Amino acid sequence: MMGRLRLAHLLLAAASMSLLGAEAAYIRYNTSAGVVKGKLNVHMVAHTHDDVGWLKTVDQYYVGSNNSIQDACVQNVLDSMVPALLKDKNRKFIYVEQAFFQRWWREQSDIIKDTVKGLVSSGQLEFTNGGMCMHDEAAVHYIDMIDQTTLGHRFIKEEFAQIPRIGWQIDPFGHSAVQAYLLGAQVGFDALYFSRIDYQDRGKRKGTKELEVVWRGSKTFGSSADIFSGIFPNNYEPPTGEFYFEVDADSPIVQDDPLLFDYNVEDRVNAFVAAALAQANITRTNHIMFTMGTDFKYQYAESWFRQMDKLIHYVNKDGRVNALYSTPSIYTDAKFAASETWPLKTNDFFPYADKPNSYWTGYFTSRPAFKQYVRMMSGYYLAARQLEVFKGRSNSGPTTDSLADALALVQHHDAVTGTEQQHVANDYAKRLSIGYKKAEELVSTSLACLSESHSKSHCKSPTTNFGQCPLLNITYCPPSEVNFSQGKSLVVVVYNSLGWKREDVLRIPVMSDSIVVHDSERKEIESQLLPIASASLNIRDKHVKAYLGTSPSAQPKFWLAFSASVPPLGFNTYIVSSGKRSASVSSTSTIYSQGGKNGKLQVGQGRLKLHYDTAGALSRYSDSKTQVQASFQQKYKYYIGHDGSGSDYQTSGAYVFRPIGTVPIKTDGQVPLTILRGPILDEVHQQINSWIYQITRVYKAKDYVETEFIIGPIPVDDGNGKELSTEIVTNMATNGIFYTDSSGRDFIKRVRDYRSDWKIEVHQPIAGNYYPVNLGIYVEDGSKELSVLVDRSIGGSSIKDGQIELMLHRRLLYDDGRGVAEALNETVCFDNQCEGLVIEGKYYLKIDPQGEGARWRRTFGQEIYSPFLLAFSEQDGGNWVNSHVPSFSAMEPTYSLPDNVALLTLQELEDGSVLLRLAHLYEAGEHKDLSALASVDLKRVFHDKKIGKITETNLSANQERAAMEKKRLKWKVEGPPSEENVVRGRSVDPSNLVVELGPMEIRTFVIRFDHR
Ligand SMILES: [Zn+2]
Repeated sequence: MMGRLRLAHLLLAAASMSLLGAEAAYIRYNTSAGVVKGKLNVHMVAHTHDDVGWLKTVDQYYVGSNNSIQDACVQNVLDSMVPALLKDKNRKFIYVEQAFFQRWWREQSDIIKDTVKGLVSSGQLEFTNGGMCMHDEAAVHYIDMIDQTTLGHRFIKEEFAQIPRIGWQIDPFGHSAVQAYLLGAQVGFDALYFSRIDYQDRGKRKGTKELEVVWRGSKTFGSSADIFSGIFPNNYEPPTGEFYFEVDADSPIVQDDPLLFDYNVEDRVNAFVAAALAQANITRTNHIMFTMGTDFKYQYAESWFRQMDKLIHYVNKDGRVNALYSTPSIYTDAKFAASETWPLKTNDFFPYADKPNSYWTGYFTSRPAFKQYVRMMSGYYLAARQLEVFKGRSNSGPTTDSLADALALVQHHDAVTGTEQQHVANDYAKRLSIGYKKAEELVSTSLACLSESHSKSHCKSPTTNFGQCPLLNITYCPPSEVNFSQGKSLVVVVYNSLGWKREDVLRIPVMSDSIVVHDSERKEIESQLLPIASASLNIRDKHVKAYLGTSPSAQPKFWLAFSASVPPLGFNTYIVSSGKRSASVSSTSTIYSQGGKNGKLQVGQGRLKLHYDTAGALSRYSDSKTQVQASFQQKYKYYIGHDGSGSDYQTSGAYVFRPIGTVPIKTDGQVPLTILRGPILDEVHQQINSWIYQITRVYKAKDYVETEFIIGPIPVDDGNGKELSTEIVTNMATNGIFYTDSSGRDFIKRVRDYRSDWKIEVHQPIAGNYYPVNLGIYVEDGSKELSVLVDRSIGGSSIKDGQIELMLHRRLLYDDGRGVAEALNETVCFDNQCEGLVIEGKYYLKIDPQGEGARWRRTFGQEIYSPFLLAFSEQDGGNWVNSHVPSFSAMEPTYSLPDNVALLTLQELEDGSVLLRLAHLYEAGEHKDLSALASVDLKRVFHDKKIGKITETNLSANQERAAMEKKRLKWKVEGPPSEENVVRGRSVDPSNLVVELGPMEIRTFVIRFDHR
């Protein structure tokens, strides 16, 4: 086959030589073509897709080390791009990942910088997408998406005065509604391009020419947040596999020197035209895009541009189609100018499958401990930035900048997704840890400043030292694990980053049972001691050793629980000391063990009760206030990950979830319960099996159930990888319908075995019904709603009516063939031995009367994202309260944000101005009262400052909102216009400084205060 082709080429080359009789000489290629009306325009977009970590770490990719893993060096790409663009002013290139670009930029000379600025302002080099990374859309939280995009966009604005116009999410594994309407339309993008959608959906769209659509991602905003969206016909690579021009690529190049053998111009032109016509056949208008590039290409940019110069020159000479150097924004403008009406797309593009048994729904849960770390750091970063504002930013440090960079990086679609190699996951965790350390220092300093009364304005060197406990989730907190000697006590400063006053129970490990808690008015407050489970102590000892390299000297014996009440954007102080507990307020939990003979059991001291049957299993949920009752069970099961045997080699791995069987976790008839009861909370401890431990908590003053799980190591010695899910089973008639959040924001209706855009052929009834869960998942039956909220991103579904399941942990033995080339088999090593990863986490559950669930999901969802931040100090004698400010709120003392508004960002920028983001938390119609227009009085939020200037910007704060809205393209949609009643706040009047927010509205402001 190959032989005959080669022979044909030779003959053709010989014919051309004799026909032309030409001599080799310099050929000036005509690459100047723009869009030509009436012709098929082939927009050639030169691009490189540079993962900020995957098989190699971000730095290894940048410098080009570790090439035995993957031959990739981003420095080569950026270095060689400059001369290649200078060589011909018609050549164009786009660059996407700012984490790489910034690494390169800071190393360049002023001459190169000026040259590159020229290339950018002439449009030869265009920043597309423009965030620090190309974030994932399933395992990310919308606040992190906003932050990482803002970081990149503001850099581009400051250095180049440019505003990226186009979303370019070409590789993420499915696409979220939040990406379209929030990170697309509200950033100001005119279009969004991507490639990975379900293979069945793609097949259908090709047939109906619906790969390009107007995507309406928000029910609340309707057409006002529409965005033009282009799905590539196959992937983000050059068409038909024939136009790859990397130095080592094997595509045929254009050989146009008649003095050399293998002249092939006609052949190459024909192939190009054929590829163009094939794509035009499935595309509306006479504009198509050729994505000329792929992962880490253009390491020697000239090798691509040389060939593209020739293709443009000879194809346009041929004249059947018009080829041009283009960019996504030129392409978008051409599409818009065609004045076409486009098909409408609503909801999202999850889940993604590239083949019948290949649903990419495993990565929703892959690396669950890392996913939790990312989420925890995200909430901490939000709080730390607030404290940075209150103290005043110091550019000499410590700052939150390094945590900002690390967090931005891990939103990448091979980072928080869990689809990177193990050494890369370690690199991400290291970066987060370094960033955390600096932010922790800032937080401590700021709290010290705020609590040392006199130094309100600008505090430089406070004397109070605060310690924090980032490993509290594994029961490790050195500052609280001390024996309080005579006269000394522990000061706990509790910071609340929410804009509402909040009461919550906090728990810290302590050594002794003679401990009392006082509030800042020296009043002893109610507290409860709970013996620490040996399962918790076990993971504590192992992981402290693994993470810190040291063994903790002694083990704490109890959790001390007490309720803290903290003002909005502020703190309160509690004093823990050794002393005789007054029985009326302080109690040690009463412990019951239940072996089954004792009959039924009831847990909960307040309105919420959990009922257990004689076998020790949960059987009923009841709330005496709402009168909600439901039969209720909670179980564990695991899926056996497919090993790839049989006709389809597809295994279950880091990306793909392909179960081969379901195994209920047997509990041998009954699980013995240990019940701890006390005035603040009840706990039910259960050793489900040798590798699952569970603690169910019901707080007296709360109306939800908290379940803590400790899972692992998942045993694999039977040769099977396992994917562990927990199930909540009720008798609710839910009719195949459930709801999951989109990147932590809107809730989207899911229907089992159904897709709204096409008639699905079901090959994977479990994996194909899994969806990403960042905030929560719920079902309803007309009289009540069952909601489950999560502490990290996770995969979830409702596989049966009345049921909700969450995949909590995965340990697999085979690579799933999507490039990562490793099995997802995480281990932790200590004492020279390694064992499977153990994870700790929580989920929260509540059953509400129909129509009321949203309030809990939204309010408590914010509390999960932003837990209390605890800082510890020691006092000698009882003088803390005299020498320190015991409580603080940045806002006016009686003010609080409305129940339906959250503060997403309060951050001091490098120039001293402050970035403020406020978000309405409810969708239109989501709640009868709380979906209403809300307003925030900035004079009361910043009561001790004077706002000199306030500017409303787009979401990523790189342009004024009004200007952005004026210039955004408005696309025409097929079908009759829908009836819409979109409520948005009016523009802010600088004299009264009230910010109105309509449902789901996020408003971003840059504020200058007068006093600085
Ligand atoms: Zn990628």
